[in-house]
Amino acid sequence: MEDKILSKVEEQREQIIESLATLVKTPSRTGEEGAAQQIVEKRYREMGLDVDVWEPDVEELFEKFPEVAQYPSHWQHDLILPYQDLPNYRELVESNLSEVLNYRDRPNVVGIWKGTGGGRSLILNGHIDTVTIEPRDAWTHDPFGAEIEDGKMYGRGASDDKSGVVAALWAVRCLRDLGIVLKGDVILESVVNEEHAGNGTLACIARGYTADAAIAVESSDNRVRLCGYGGVYWGINLKGTSFHTKCRWEGDALIGVSANEKLPGVITQLLALESDKNRIPVNPFYAGKKPFSLNIGRVWGGTYDTAGAATCTLRGSIYFGPDIGSVKGVMDSVKEYIMRVTETDPWLRENPPQVEFFHHDDAHWIDPEEEIVKTVMAAGQQVFGQEPEIIAGIGANDCRHLINQGKMPSFVFGPGTGDQAHSIDESIKIEDLIAGVKVLAIAVYHWCR
Ligand SMILES: [Zn+2]
Repeated sequence: MEDKILSKVEEQREQIIESLATLVKTPSRTGEEGAAQQIVEKRYREMGLDVDVWEPDVEELFEKFPEVAQYPSHWQHDLILPYQDLPNYRELVESNLSEVLNYRDRPNVVGIWKGTGGGRSLILNGHIDTVTIEPRDAWTHDPFGAEIEDGKMYGRGASDDKSGVVAALWAVRCLRDLGIVLKGDVILESVVNEEHAGNGTLACIARGYTADAAIAVESSDNRVRLCGYGGVYWGINLKGTSFHTKCRWEGDALIGVSANEKLPGVITQLLALESDKNRIPVNPFYAGKKPFSLNIGRVWGGTYDTAGAATCTLRGSIYFGPDIGSVKGVMDSVKEYIMRVTETDPWLRENPPQVEFFHHDDAHWIDPEEEIVKTVMAAGQQVFGQEPEIIAGIGANDCRHLINQGKMPSFVFGPGTGDQAHSIDESIKIEDLIAGVKVLAIAVYHWCR
């Protein structure tokens, strides 16, 4: 049967490529997923799947998943609504930003292939949204052209993650075209707003879509990514006074305090946080990366050489491995370390730093001994003649929700190239796309049969 599956995929090669080209030519930057989702819906229906199309309910997501639900995001308006503790529905409504941060015309699309019963079920989860194409001028290929050159297709989403959505779709399509009957259900998910949110997948879980296992068909070069880092985008606002340089002192009294001079204490605490968090054994699946990386991305404060800075702002991010704990714990640690500056500085005691967050996501991890991992490894063996490589994952993806909220064993496997995700001239090797369909088809067949 495996040979039949492999030849079926080869037979349908041109249609698979055409499917990806159609989706790449249909822009679906985060916030504008509607048109591309209509195409996916149509394809699922043509295949004879039971199709479910709905717009995620933001209020419900905050109610059901208060620690992990995020504000809806939009490629033109990313990370614009800070929060001190956790994001919540009330503040979204009060912000007047809900006119752009919502899921109107941004539905999830789920296609269900019902099994005959008594078998294991499987979710294949991919995201239809992509990041921006800016800076557009830097592209040497049309970002929505799906041009093929030297065996690669170019375009935004070609790898991340339209290749995953297409590979999952065709894996199922090939099995169905062979007349194969499975015992377990196969659930295809094409979700919105994976980038900077993850709410599309959360909405699938809220709607009751769970299975005995789930594969996030994200760009991993057809390798098996067992863990993913969590992330936090943070901001710190420092207060000073606006004064002229000549008015800084009055006798022995310090009258003018520039917010900028409070930077060293804050930066010292941020680096102390990073170094303390890294005092744990390094998980072998981190591929030599530290468990905790903190980046001070931007600092700005003040307006003029002879004026005190009334405010100084730092913005940055943290990536952390699964052993560090929950993202809420990381956020609490950031606040705790920053507040230490108030212990020794009377000005900061009176004017404490304001810590805020813009986005946060949990880390995730799956035991390599899980049956679904072995199933995909074995399927890879049949396609490549050797087992797929196991790799670490730096950077978040929807796998965290499949595992943490959906309670499903889950990991990342997909044909796109991780290095190409979000890059200028994003591309995918056509051969990788076809190989990804083959591995997924064989894995689905073995898991659900
Ligand atoms: Zn992705």
